[in-house]
Amino acid sequence: MASTEEKVSSENNVEIRKEEIEKNLLYVRKCIEAITQRQKEVRLVAVSKYKPASDIRFAYEFGQRHFGENYVQELIEKSKMLPSDIQWHFIGTLQKIPNLWAVETIDSKKKAELMNKACVSRDDKLKIFLQVNTSGEESKSGIEPNKCLELLNYIKDNCNKLELLGLMTIGAPNRNNYNEGQPNPDFIAKEFRKERGIELELSMGMSNDFEEALKLGATSVRIGSTIFGARPVKQESGQDKV
Ligand SMILES: *Cc1c(COP(=O)(O)O)cnc(C)c1O
Repeated sequence: MASTEEKVSSENNVEIRKEEIEKNLLYVRKCIEAITQRQKEVRLVAVSKYKPASDIRFAYEFGQRHFGENYVQELIEKSKMLPSDIQWHFIGTLQKIPNLWAVETIDSKKKAELMNKACVSRDDKLKIFLQVNTSGEESKSGIEPNKCLELLNYIKDNCNKLELLGLMTIGAPNRNNYNEGQPNPDFIAKEFRKERGIELELSMGMSNDFEEALKLGATSVRIGSTIFGARPVKQESGQDKV
């Protein structure tokens, strides 16, 4: 049991810590205010990685609501024990998305490993597609087709939290420089579908080319504008980088 003396000293420490955090928060707020002169709202995200929940609570009690965390598990644990009106920012490299069913954009060993690590606490495996850059466009993510098998095998042998579902590809926009009557070369041929006894799915086909993709064996199509209408700004590759 803690002696009275120890107890008093730990209460003092708590008080000191509280004041310290309040002082620091006030300092940052004043800096922001001095620079912006209240002409625009700046959101202050308090990055609390590695810091105990008690620190966050002190900041919270001092009016702070936005907090940033880099590690999924840490964020989840803290969010469970802290007030529910805290606005959490995930600023780590991989996103933990509730009900995440599949990630379609794995194109390197590094991404596979990171994703695998991010999934250690999942009960089930995360389904993934290897993104293959069949059109060879510089601007596009995706592994080169001839390196696909190696990555496939690597994931199977090293990433026990990932379930390889298939291959994903994005056709070049307005691809028309192939022979009439020939299949669009951007769409992975059906022969790719059996590797190491895995029945691979093919995620290919978007609004402008999904009909052809379906004819060439697509098992999954990704359709946006045809369903929801045109997007205001067209992204370079039609894809957000992971
Ligand atoms: C850690 C971290 C911060 C906070 O950095 P400080 O130097 O501690 O202010 C901000 N953004 C990201 C993405 C971080 O990982």
